[in-house]
Amino acid sequence: MSYEYDAENIFAKILRGEIPNKTVMETEHTLAFEDINPQAPTHVLVIPKGPYVNFDHFVSSASDLEIADFFRTAGKVAEQTGVAQSAEGAGFRTISNAGPDGVQEVPHFHLHVLGGRMLGRMLPAPR
Ligand code: 5GP
Repeated sequence: MSYEYDAENIFAKILRGEIPNKTVMETEHTLAFEDINPQAPTHVLVIPKGPYVNFDHFVSSASDLEIADFFRTAGKVAEQTGVAQSAEGAGFRTISNAGPDGVQEVPHFHLHVLGGRMLGRMLPAPR
């Protein structure tokens, strides 16, 4: 599979500083920022800084360093925002939508980190 990255997508513009964002965490390879239209009290988007279209593009083409940094950062976001599972409960959900069936809107790989309320079942029952 070959992936064509659109350098004009909204997250590419955020990475270039052309559009503002509310940064939660930043490393050499990864940026985490608040979703503009939050679906839960905590809704953070974690993105690699490299030009990857979706999950499968990222895990097949990014370096081990980028991949490790990305997932470690996502874990730290969950801890720092207070949604990580603890003795008191809590917990969160990560989602990565890919392609038309996954209803991916922005063609730059991202992980949604959602929490801060009971999120319910993962998917609505099939019709
Ligand atoms: P997708 O449907 O591609 O998985 O999710 C894209 C997400 O990006 C949506 O949750 C949407 O609210 C968020 N989003 C779209 N445009 C912007 C923006 O300009 N800034 C931020 N912070 N989030 C955005």
